[in-house]
Amino acid sequence: MAKKCIGVREHTGHPCQRPASRGSDFCFACKQQEGNEKIINLQHDVYHCPDDGQKLWYVPKRKMHRCDMCGGVLLNGKEIDPVVLENILELSEVAEEGLVVECPTCGADSDLSDVESPLSNFALEWVFTVQTSNYTASTYWGVSNVGHCKVCGSTWFPGPGERDALGKKIGNHRRRLWRDILHNPNTNTSRKSWRRWRDSMREYFGKQTQTHLREQRMRLVTEKTEKREKKKENLCPYVDSNGYRCTMKKMQKEGATHCYKHRQK
Ligand SMILES: [Zn+2]
Ligand SMILES: [Zn+2]
Ligand SMILES: [Zn+2]
Ligand SMILES: [Zn+2]
Repeated sequence: MAKKCIGVREHTGHPCQRPASRGSDFCFACKQQEGNEKIINLQHDVYHCPDDGQKLWYVPKRKMHRCDMCGGVLLNGKEIDPVVLENILELSEVAEEGLVVECPTCGADSDLSDVESPLSNFALEWVFTVQTSNYTASTYWGVSNVGHCKVCGSTWFPGPGERDALGKKIGNHRRRLWRDILHNPNTNTSRKSWRRWRDSMREYFGKQTQTHLREQRMRLVTEKTEKREKKKENLCPYVDSNGYRCTMKKMQKEGATHCYKHRQK
């Protein structure tokens, strides 16, 4: 049987299923990956998601490792933009009790596997929008603990979770979060638009944008809570013998305290 190609899919990082060409470790389609040391080393450098344990896939197109399960992304010291990293390290550090995430890179290194290298966590605000049809889009707001390893210089961007800060279900859109924010413009982009992209990415992690995002997120959460409270105020307060609260609205009448059914006679 022919040897399997050791290449990976450019867009997903999933392993290539074709047989390797004669005299090569790669198939005809993955030939462009032949000199790429990162890909050759993938055989030995296997990283796992620090949050759910899944294997991380290296995506050549985006120069990042990503987790299929949670949408988390791992960048090493060379893959991350230096200004983005600088900005992250200036965010407020999160020191929650019980929040110990091991570095996925150091954890895979047999020389370092005995050494504990927990990530330092920084609170990063995010917002991302996914177009859901020609006329509709979903916007998600949140804050995540981005982890940085002082030993090897890797940075872990955890997935956004099941729901955003406003309780909106994220589902499969979770994969878009870091892909959109850390997105690499394709190689045929002009130098000028590449610069523009890079500057706007750097700005996203900068103090000004982060403060702005934080204020907006908190405002939206407050508005949502107030709206919910208000809605509750308009509901009949009657609770039945099973402990279920009535779901009807109070009567429209001035001074009404209950719904029609439970009105005080
Ligand atoms: Zn291949
Ligand atoms: Zn994961
Ligand atoms: Zn590390
Ligand atoms: Zn009622």
